[in-house]
Amino acid sequence: MSRTMKAAVFEKPGVIAVKQVPVPEIGDDEVLIRVKLTGICGTDWSIYTGKYSADKLPLIAGHEFSGQVEQVGRNARGLKVGDKVTADINMSCGHCFYCKRGQKLLCPEFVQLGIHIDGTFAEYVKAPWSQVHRIPDKLSFMDAAFIEPVSCTIHSAKAMQAELGSSVAIIGSGLGILHGALARLRGCAPVIVIGHNTKRNEIARKMGADHVIDTKVVSDPVAEVKRLTGGRGADYMLESVGTIATYEQAFRMVRPGGQVSAFGITGDKETMALSPFDIVLNEKKVTASCAGVGNDWSDAITLIEHGRIDPRPMFSMVVPLEELESALKEIRNNPELIKVFVSPEATKREIL
Ligand SMILES: [Zn+2]
Ligand SMILES: [Zn+2]
Repeated sequence: MSRTMKAAVFEKPGVIAVKQVPVPEIGDDEVLIRVKLTGICGTDWSIYTGKYSADKLPLIAGHEFSGQVEQVGRNARGLKVGDKVTADINMSCGHCFYCKRGQKLLCPEFVQLGIHIDGTFAEYVKAPWSQVHRIPDKLSFMDAAFIEPVSCTIHSAKAMQAELGSSVAIIGSGLGILHGALARLRGCAPVIVIGHNTKRNEIARKMGADHVIDTKVVSDPVAEVKRLTGGRGADYMLESVGTIATYEQAFRMVRPGGQVSAFGITGDKETMALSPFDIVLNEKKVTASCAGVGNDWSDAITLIEHGRIDPRPMFSMVVPLEELESALKEIRNNPELIKVFVSPEATKREIL
């Protein structure tokens, strides 16, 4: 009989069952990882509510994780049992037009661990060995479970290519906080983060924002961004919320000749009102990106290892696997919770 493990199975929209399921069996090119921590992401909420990946249920979600190598496939090189690891969740066919160009996120066969195939809200997960990253000793399991979101913001920052001395304004104080930290690292100024929660805004400031615009206090954030950028608007505008209203705002906040960077994910059927006249006459540009791949992961590890990014102010609490469903709801209702981790080993919650 196959071994079993505890897993949180997203059975159908609105239903998570924590139960025993078989431990994944690895192939020659795969590695079995004992999961330590998994960060809860907005995507998990979208899967839970049926907005995303509904056709993939039942599914073990969870994709921002760290763990230790438990078993190594015959062809897996450079890894041994006990290694502290995470894994690049993005998998593609490797041989289509896009994969050959190094654009695996655009591959028609693109799948993500914990979003399209079983992930890490469980005691064990399997991953292709080539996707696995060893974690330096200096990083905790918690830091390591945060590499995925950092890699996403790095990918976006590379697409945006904000120049030294240019102004960057970011709408959103979730991952927007990290975008602010990266903009500061790139030598941008001023860095402006726009959010509506006092605690998150404070953390944004602590992690590198020169200005925070609290939308509960400031009635016209477009005018405020212009005021902080010589009356012109920001050189670079990054949307990290994912609503139509904030996307439309981003195009009003960017200066003529500036660039909007799209990061927040809206519903797949939603559309926005844009003025081609404004875009053409004012030469506004757009870049887009929402996931980190390849060396974005190594770069995330390097930046955390060398203290260029310290994500710890964003860590809120750890809950046992059994509390995943309640934690998903708590995060929706309490904006002071930023990153909540799930542990298959924990027996009670720990506030950080
Ligand atoms: Zn995520
Ligand atoms: Zn492909």
